[in-house]
Amino acid sequence: MNPYLLFVLIVLLLGWLIELLTEGLEHRRRQKEPPAAMRDYMDADKFRISQAYQGEHRRLGLIRHTVMTAVTIGFIVAGGFDLFDRLAHRLGNRGEYVTGIVFVALWAMFMFVVAEPFRLYTTFRIESRYEFNRTTLKTYLLDLVKGAAIAAILGLPIFVAIVWFFETTGDGAWIWCWLLVVLVQILLMAIVPTLIMPLFNKFTPLAPGELRTAIETYAAAQQFMISDIYTMDGSKRSSKSNAFFVGIGNSRRIVLYDTLIAQQTVPELLAVVAHEMGHCKRRHILKGLALAVVSTGLTFWVMSLFIRNADLFDAFGMTHVSTYASLVFVGFLYTPMAFVIGIAGNCLSRRWEFQADAYAAATTGTASMATALKKLYCENYANLTPHPLKVFLEYSHPPVLDRVAALEDGG
Ligand SMILES: [Zn+2]
Repeated sequence: MNPYLLFVLIVLLLGWLIELLTEGLEHRRRQKEPPAAMRDYMDADKFRISQAYQGEHRRLGLIRHTVMTAVTIGFIVAGGFDLFDRLAHRLGNRGEYVTGIVFVALWAMFMFVVAEPFRLYTTFRIESRYEFNRTTLKTYLLDLVKGAAIAAILGLPIFVAIVWFFETTGDGAWIWCWLLVVLVQILLMAIVPTLIMPLFNKFTPLAPGELRTAIETYAAAQQFMISDIYTMDGSKRSSKSNAFFVGIGNSRRIVLYDTLIAQQTVPELLAVVAHEMGHCKRRHILKGLALAVVSTGLTFWVMSLFIRNADLFDAFGMTHVSTYASLVFVGFLYTPMAFVIGIAGNCLSRRWEFQADAYAAATTGTASMATALKKLYCENYANLTPHPLKVFLEYSHPPVLDRVAALEDGG
């Protein structure tokens, strides 16, 4: 058997087995009673419902992963990529770039058709049954159209540029690709809050009142410069609540979901804002960008090792060797590395969450940060006691009990 094919199949199956294992462990770890520290925000009934909710997500996630793995393996083994490549040549035989765009678009659409039913079921069945969903079919479809348009406008020129670099600039191609993508990443950080996110949600400067005054007083005391605090109509899609920090330079802003403002008291909301400011004070945004720069460089370097590799094309049953298809195939080879980088990134992110919590506690008090977190996790039916392996592999935020314990230790 072709060693590349063997490697890709093992990687796909291992990914599926790891998911099976972690979800199995999660299932066995279910509790009968809410943790003592959460009783004020989670009674026995609500806990039972939240467990059922998590169970449904777990089951659907596993079915989805199983189907995606089976379909992907079947597609590779049955020569699906070669079929798409022949089709792309017939449809877009106006040079390598057009053929490449058609080939990648066919593959993206195929994956979309397989994955989309699961997203539909999640939104309109599971999320609706537990009264989280507020997305109308119209919003859902508009999101799809907007997402596809943005992917095409941003993604296609980058894709063409990467193919062009690899075809014309020789051994240094990966460095040019790296430079280009890093520039795009920085540009995106600047324009996402002001140009892209408003396509999906309405952002309104926080109205004058008790909360705004509290935040302004706090920000002045901490000498924190920020353009403005915004509220976002998160309730357009879900009753779940959240808050985040986004942007760089002049575009950086703190955003509170309208659903969060409805659920939490002013001191709790102030603690949440302080947490987001903590991320900024500790320079987590810049550190995150630095990591993305390194990992992007690594990706393109690995890519450069396997571009137009005849054995790799043989593994995917291809008759025609091309640069554009190499990009897709190297993606499969890169999966284990992406997995490891993802775990490292999550580890770091969890540390940063503790740091931001500590910053908020030190500047606004431990109590309001702790109750803000408890409410947030309970209201969103988050898993209060996830398995440590699941946390290690997938969680960008620490479990709530760890966060509350860290706050109490520190305060
Ligand atoms: Zn955070």
